[in-house]
Amino acid sequence: MGANKTIAAGLLLGAVCGGALAQDAVDPAELARIIARHPAWAAWLADPALAKLTLAGPKLPHSPWRVADIRRPQPPAVDTGTACAGKTPNNPPGDADVLFDGKDLSHFTSDHMAEWSLENGVLVAGGRVYNFLRTRQSYGDAQIHLEWKTPAQPNPPVNPQRRGNSGVFPMGLYEIQILDSHTTDTYPDGMAGSIYSQTPPLVNATRPPGVWQCYDIIFRAPRFDGEKVVSPARVTAFLNGVLVQDDTALIGATVHGKVAAYAPHAAELPLAIQDHGNPESRVAFRNIWVRRLSPR
Ligand code: MG
Repeated sequence: MGANKTIAAGLLLGAVCGGALAQDAVDPAELARIIARHPAWAAWLADPALAKLTLAGPKLPHSPWRVADIRRPQPPAVDTGTACAGKTPNNPPGDADVLFDGKDLSHFTSDHMAEWSLENGVLVAGGRVYNFLRTRQSYGDAQIHLEWKTPAQPNPPVNPQRRGNSGVFPMGLYEIQILDSHTTDTYPDGMAGSIYSQTPPLVNATRPPGVWQCYDIIFRAPRFDGEKVVSPARVTAFLNGVLVQDDTALIGATVHGKVAAYAPHAAELPLAIQDHGNPESRVAFRNIWVRRLSPR
């Protein structure tokens, strides 16, 4: 407990020295209580920036919680069986745009293309710079399939958001998170299966790092009338065959540490995959395809 009090005091000092507003300051007593309940979180909560992010973010408009709130209940874990976990990926359906089948990256572009490599038929993010791989084609309403694997690390980074962090971004704007969060040690709206910084997954359907996992996502693009949002983006997502987002309405384009908001955009935009820029924890991908969906 003594160590917890020391950490809490250091955090308070860090928040003050960092110029944080009083209303956004981390409550050291609450921090100490959280660490007492979750000792494994002490290492990363000792970082004042992470403590502030996960305890003193802005309030979300659609839930009682704050953005990236570590106090939010952790979704229950479920055993996912073996869907997509084998050595051989499943065949895409006949009407899919096959974006990556292990042969080349011709369907993609990036501001940092050299960061994306083809290694033994697998696409691997470089991890040296935060950037995105974007499809050359644009998509609106779509069904998206993508298989991913985070690296098994004997000594994973202290910051849980640096463990195999990537993400699927329909329209390049709306992140469905990829992360090694099998041990649920990050904020629930930042774990795999979440709409990042908005909505946690219904359950923790992740597998351990080093094992292939798969997303099947149904994305409905937002509709705009001028500046007005006529209908928000909606996501239904299955992680390893398990429903994790059930027709979830998004509150805006993905942002970090802020409340998302919409800005009108085109009806179709490139799909993007995130390289979070963590060289010690490079994420691999295989079998990526997308099907265009008719408006409903
Ligand atoms: Mg991400």
